[in-house]
Amino acid sequence: MNTNELWQAVLGGFELSLSKANFTTWFKQTFISEIRENTVIIGVPNLFTKAWLEKKHTKEILQALQDLTSGSVKQLNYRVEAKSQNPQIVTLFEQVAQPQTQTNTYQPRTEHEPHEIRTGEFSLNGKYCFTTFIVGKQNELAHAAAQAVCAQPGGVYNPLFIYGGVGLGKTHLLQAVGNEIIRKNQETRILYVTCERFTNDFITALRANRMVEFKNRYRTVDVLLVDDIQFITGKEGIQEEFFHTFNQLYQNNKQIVISSDRPPKAIPSLEDRLISRFESGMMADVGSPDFETRVAILETKCREKAYAIERDILHHIATSIQTNVRELEGALNKIIAFHQFNNVRPTAESVKPILFSFQATNTKKNVTPKQLIITVAGYFDLQLNDLLGQSRQKRLAFPRQIIMYLMREEMKASYPSIGTELGGRDHTTAMHAYEKISNCLETDEKLQHDLELIKQKLYAI
Ligand code: ADP
Ligand code: MG
Repeated sequence: MNTNELWQAVLGGFELSLSKANFTTWFKQTFISEIRENTVIIGVPNLFTKAWLEKKHTKEILQALQDLTSGSVKQLNYRVEAKSQNPQIVTLFEQVAQPQTQTNTYQPRTEHEPHEIRTGEFSLNGKYCFTTFIVGKQNELAHAAAQAVCAQPGGVYNPLFIYGGVGLGKTHLLQAVGNEIIRKNQETRILYVTCERFTNDFITALRANRMVEFKNRYRTVDVLLVDDIQFITGKEGIQEEFFHTFNQLYQNNKQIVISSDRPPKAIPSLEDRLISRFESGMMADVGSPDFETRVAILETKCREKAYAIERDILHHIATSIQTNVRELEGALNKIIAFHQFNNVRPTAESVKPILFSFQATNTKKNVTPKQLIITVAGYFDLQLNDLLGQSRQKRLAFPRQIIMYLMREEMKASYPSIGTELGGRDHTTAMHAYEKISNCLETDEKLQHDLELIKQKLYAI
């Protein structure tokens, strides 16, 4: 295990315990610059980050480093240094399909992307392919349909609509379709976008009077892969634009593959005409993997990493983490990192604390919107009626925005459902709140502190 892998293991832990905005703001461009005797020197992009990490996270970082090195790291220092001189850091739990809410141009992103992502127009990640996808009962239909699409793009299964819960392989399948079609025919124009990226591109194009370019970009592809369509909103003509994009491609026998966390009818703001379009092709769900599939996934990942783990320990992992493949993989990565670094073999005893921390984060996610609202009301000493009511006084509006932000960030709720939970507000209000709090969080230390405390209260329930 090199310093890069060690740091990845540390980041993996933080990525699970911090909100995404927080994690990205403070950890994205950090790395281990040097290990000198018992001191680890962390490279950071600027003085501000240095001060922040020193003040807020030194204890936890040191603890994580000690856990991973059996206590051999004793001290931590920071140094402002550019990351580019160092090997790229790819976090353990990196997902390729993060919504890119800050994107305001429709140029492909080229900065700070993990190196596996081809930074060309396609935004495809080569590691998500069919050979690394394990098929079980819960996903065999989706898998077969995805393969059929590759055999004959624009053919029988058009559109293909894949739906199911978080971390169950939807993005993996969408990307595998793109990768496979490209492998067969380099000339194919493939576009992979998250729904949020599509939305942002559209709004930016509209405001900048660049609709022609926007249409050229989306309506001239051979294969359009749209991830997480449940986030589509009803505002600014986005559904209308998507409808026309869809029709144009469909009429020209271009392939469309869409993913969602639920079936079309269950997406609250989705217009009927889009529901019927989505339902007109092939719909396939992905569910939680059964025990055998979980073991098979673990075995494959071990093989990929050329790391052997005994069968009964794999069974133990597969029994501890049951619902989400992303977490299953995360736990395995952490176990491998820990044992490689300490140069010991995994045993039933030694994997226990690692699995325990994953189970703890599993339960962490089980709070309800209601509990969140009550917690925030309690934190700011407000009456529920006032908080859910219509008054726009700042003392009410700001906590309300915090609730909306946390529902999105912590519970991955869709904007329309957030609006509904907060006394029937519009989803654009929720979107605005999310953006506002995200922006404030970058600089407002008091707000960061408030959110930390609210989360502590929330998960202590
Ligand atoms: P979703 O988009 O459904 O939230 P992802 O496609 O991002 O989930 O999957 C989360 C992680 O789990 C990814 O790293 C993916 O490669 C892995 N994964 C999910 N399902 C499978 C599977 N059947 N076989 C192998 N890996 C899988
Ligand atoms: Mg996904």
